[in-house]
Amino acid sequence: MTNAAFSKRDLAVLWHPCTQMHDHEQFPLIPIKSAKGVWLEDFDGNRYLDAISSWWVNLFGHANPYINAALKTQLDTLEHVIFAGFTHQAAIDLAEKLVQVTPEGLSRCFYADNGSSAVEVALKMSFHSWQNTGQIQKTKFVTLENSYHGETLGALAVGDVALYKKTYAPLLMDVLTAPSPDCYFREENESWAAYSARQFAKLDALLAHHAHEICAVIIEPLVQCAGGMRMYDPIYLTLLRRACDKYAIHLIADEIAVGFGRTGTLFACEQAAISPDFLCLSKGLTGGYLPLSAVLTTQSLYQTFYDDYAKQKAFLHSHSYTGNALACQAALATLDLFERHHVIDANMVLSATMAKLSQRFLNHPHVADVRQTGMIVAIELVKHRPSRTPYPWQERRGMQVYHYALKKGVLLRPLGNVIYFMPPYVITEDELVMMFDVAWHAVLHATT
Ligand SMILES: *Cc1c(COP(=O)(O)O)cnc(C)c1O
Repeated sequence: MTNAAFSKRDLAVLWHPCTQMHDHEQFPLIPIKSAKGVWLEDFDGNRYLDAISSWWVNLFGHANPYINAALKTQLDTLEHVIFAGFTHQAAIDLAEKLVQVTPEGLSRCFYADNGSSAVEVALKMSFHSWQNTGQIQKTKFVTLENSYHGETLGALAVGDVALYKKTYAPLLMDVLTAPSPDCYFREENESWAAYSARQFAKLDALLAHHAHEICAVIIEPLVQCAGGMRMYDPIYLTLLRRACDKYAIHLIADEIAVGFGRTGTLFACEQAAISPDFLCLSKGLTGGYLPLSAVLTTQSLYQTFYDDYAKQKAFLHSHSYTGNALACQAALATLDLFERHHVIDANMVLSATMAKLSQRFLNHPHVADVRQTGMIVAIELVKHRPSRTPYPWQERRGMQVYHYALKKGVLLRPLGNVIYFMPPYVITEDELVMMFDVAWHAVLHATT
């Protein structure tokens, strides 16, 4: 079978995510036959370097031998079992491990099966906890401009990316929205820290005014990924933690994208030395193998639900595949790999290489910004650099980068006109060089 044959069958029955299917009349779909490490291979024998970790989920490469072996053993032991009234070793081992590696104070783990569901769980738990403690006037959530927390209705409501949200606005709960700390908008010569702290003052004012009715603030620590890989300084999180304590508001850290080493530390919150009240994890949690998410919270929060059945305080939220054994085992193997290979240290070397290789873009006449946080590098393409005037979205410049890079064997998937790199941690120095080189020529191609 060839790419064309699979493509034809696919387009007759399938509907793909985040896609105007009509585009595929013009642009081919790419059927992948197999994958190994950072490389994907299609049915015509073309290879693509997975520079975006298959939508930010893959950490240690495709078909990783260690994760494969762990999964095969689990498969022959227990694939899945109902997780109410029953439990199993992989779920327990993983919860213990997550409690151990996440920031101090997070000691309870609730499983769901994708990122959006984890966000729903955290929102419901926060609200419900206030209800259980008699604070029934607390019904609102605070979010930041340009944030993204998933696409189920609750998660969409607390996000702020118009492209995904606008159409559904009439269906969504009201939220309070604060200005983003996004340092793309800092003044010339202003530091990231100064700008982020300045932006925090606006959130602080909002919290001070509405504290009585606010359940929680939900935030993507350090990088607003889906919002265009926009970045800010850890000081913002430090100040936010302090304010949440002061006003009795929960802090929900959505580390679904930035967790597991992406920002240079295992969790982004570590860089601000804070612990949230809820930590949402997914994506890299299973190394990119299986859908799983976890919401970590504190013992004191857990206690607000813990009572006689007749008090009706229990958290009754459930998903059929909660605590799936295969997914938990993939996550355990993934966490093992962090320790065995000193991944956080090794990534510092890779990040430094990424910093060096991205320098080339700094003086390009259509690049307004080159930014990096750990293993994430982003390049902002604009029509007019001095005024930072964006390209009209209709021109789909990022899309041109995507198609050009694919032809040269690199899978980039720009967010609008933001080209970014978020490779698996097993990428080599030579592959990084190739990845940035292809991106450079793709940018030249798309900006002329
Ligand atoms: C991807 C993402 C989600 C949603 O996760 P899904 O598994 O795609 O539902 C939520 N929050 C952030 C920050 C994400 O990047």
